[in-house]
Amino acid sequence: MNSQPPIRSQPSCADSGKGDLLGVEEAEQRIFSLLRPIDETELVDVRRALGRTLSRDILSTVNVPPHTNSAMDGYAISGDDIPAEDYATLPIIGTAFAGKPFTGCVSNGQCVRIMTGAQMPRGCDTVVIQELAEVSGDTVRFDPGNRRGQNVRQAGEDLAVGDVALAAGKRLTPADIGLLASIGIGEVGVMRRLRVAFFSTGDELRPVGSPLAEGEIYDSNRYTLYGMLQRQDVDIIDMGVVPDDRSAMSAAFKQAAEVADVILTSGGVSVGDADYVKDIVREEGKVDFWKLAIKPGRPLAFGTLGKAVFFGLPGNPVAVMVTFYQFVQPALRYLRGEATLRPARFRVACATPIRKRPGRTENQRGLLQTDTDGTLQVSVTGAQGSGILSSMSAANCFIVLPENNEGVAAGEEVLVEPFEGMV
Ligand code: AMP
Ligand code: MG
Repeated sequence: MNSQPPIRSQPSCADSGKGDLLGVEEAEQRIFSLLRPIDETELVDVRRALGRTLSRDILSTVNVPPHTNSAMDGYAISGDDIPAEDYATLPIIGTAFAGKPFTGCVSNGQCVRIMTGAQMPRGCDTVVIQELAEVSGDTVRFDPGNRRGQNVRQAGEDLAVGDVALAAGKRLTPADIGLLASIGIGEVGVMRRLRVAFFSTGDELRPVGSPLAEGEIYDSNRYTLYGMLQRQDVDIIDMGVVPDDRSAMSAAFKQAAEVADVILTSGGVSVGDADYVKDIVREEGKVDFWKLAIKPGRPLAFGTLGKAVFFGLPGNPVAVMVTFYQFVQPALRYLRGEATLRPARFRVACATPIRKRPGRTENQRGLLQTDTDGTLQVSVTGAQGSGILSSMSAANCFIVLPENNEGVAAGEEVLVEPFEGMV
């Protein structure tokens, strides 16, 4: 007996009606409800902490800056000596350098030559910059155009003792590394790296560097996945190509589940005769197989295999990237306790019209550019088929068109998601 539904109810790639497809938000909810963030941490040198995720809040144990100091080269004075009219003329009684303070006390009616970063001498609260000061011998003259407190950086104005310098879950940027150094921290606690194993499936796939026989193609998905994973804080376990063969695939899954926190595969999750991925994971673990209301990227398998989380991505090269960015990347971030799961999206005018039928969320490939007057706009990068990697390569963002969208006229605003996030 044929258990397949009748032909007419099967989805085809030209079909964009939603039917029984699973919505993006529901898929996300199902994914997050199954994920459990890791709790293992490690201590790393701050210079090795770039891109790592902070495991706990970092409280400052010092003031930054540690002392009140001059923001400019000039003359340190008391604000009391700023004249109401005409000029003030003060004797220069010493010099303060960064790291070599003037140790005496400055009385009203006196001043000290001061360099940027030098500690403010006692008795002074204001710096007159040297460009506005007229020096004559041992005295300096300036006019009423100065304000008490100007050009002075207060102790603790960047961070005070006890302030949260950086919060747990922050993915560390170069500025964060500098901030940690500014409070004297040389080693920092971060989440351990997730181990991500991945392989491509398909008898038609050949590794780069070998000639192609009839009907064969190069395995590009493993390379895009490798590239996308390199931008994550993960240990990458590349398991190569696994043929469309039950026992080979089953062995690959077993091996992956022993070493990895997350297993990714591409291909073999459609409804073709050689699409074994979901059957094998179903035998060894738990799997949900979804036909998503998303384009490209309709088939997606998600589940667990032993302790590992499993994503069976589609085979088409662009669908792999879309499902990675939309589902895998936020999941990786969630698993390692990162506070920000998704890149910021924003609205911008679309220079090109877009045709779309309602029913599926579309992630079209866009190029964000500024025109000559500095206005940001986006345009579609060309043919949008799920196998057309060249239009993905030309893109720097997704144009995210929601399920119910019915197309876009030139000049209309659309939602964009830059591939690399904003900062
Ligand atoms: P599948 O879901 O396995 O039927 O794959 C869907 C389409 O993606 C087919 O045209 C495959 O040849 C193609 N494909 C699958 N895996 C890869 C890969 N690793 N690199 C490039 N194309 C692939
Ligand atoms: Mg295949």
